[in-house]
Amino acid sequence: MATKTTATTTNALPDGLSSNLGSKLAYLTRVLKTPTIGRVWEDLAAQARDANWSHEEYLTAVLERQVADRESAGTMMRVRTAHFPHVKTLEDFNLDHLPSLRKDVLAHLATAMFVPKADNVVLLGPPGIGKTHLAIGLGIKATQAGHSVLFDTATNWIARLGRAHHAGALRAHHAGALELELKKIRRYRLIIIDEVGYIPFDTDAANLFFQLVASRYEQASVMVTSNLPFGRWGEVFGDEVVAEAMIDRLVHHAEVLTLAGDSYRTRARRELLAKDRDK
Ligand code: ADP
Ligand code: MG
Repeated sequence: MATKTTATTTNALPDGLSSNLGSKLAYLTRVLKTPTIGRVWEDLAAQARDANWSHEEYLTAVLERQVADRESAGTMMRVRTAHFPHVKTLEDFNLDHLPSLRKDVLAHLATAMFVPKADNVVLLGPPGIGKTHLAIGLGIKATQAGHSVLFDTATNWIARLGRAHHAGALRAHHAGALELELKKIRRYRLIIIDEVGYIPFDTDAANLFFQLVASRYEQASVMVTSNLPFGRWGEVFGDEVVAEAMIDRLVHHAEVLTLAGDSYRTRARRELLAKDRDK
């Protein structure tokens, strides 16, 4: 009887595995692509025996470890592909330095719930106030929530679209190249456009930027940082009408955070100097 059972099991597995539970599990976890289970089942089984876990508790513990590893591997991958200029976290952000930032709004944005809703985020404020840091921190939260993110400066976003547009203009059959590029970018659930306003755009650049924002309207999220208030975006885009049409689309479903205060860099320098003086 025992021989028969072994023979049946062996049919589904390579030779000799049924004799050894360990190698059988190694095989099964490989087939299932669950390497964490392959790594933890034995230690957790010992723990389970020691602590008298039920079968259900043991199974849950094993599966939980696999899911946790898979999620953190996914997050790591998404952080890598987001191309953040540095890894800056919200946890590293000193909220006391920025009383103008509404903590409840930041906490809500940190849940990344705005991403599946295709809502936007706009961070406005003077240089050094922490806009890029916050944008990266919120971007990382979005990757942890499972969303794909892509970060770049406004200038680079426009250069990217400009290349696609140019390729389309050169080859008649590639006329839809810009549209294709915008579609490709829409696969990212959140794009971060850093530093709008530092460099004024010419007419072509302003139009490309408009198309980027318009192509995501109510479909996918945009996060924008700018050192200029909306009232001065006309200067950046060289055209009040284009600027206004874009701002309309950007803020229709958006959280706009206007940050005020000292530059963090300046303040940090001032505090260091003050400390030196006190010595
Ligand atoms: P902005 O993009 O508004 O010009 P950054 O986000 O680049 O400013 O901030 C300038 C520097 O100061 C960065 O190194 C950033 O990490 C740091 N910084 C700014 N605000 C804070 C803060 N409240 N807590 C911790 N670091 C901050
Ligand atoms: Mg910045």
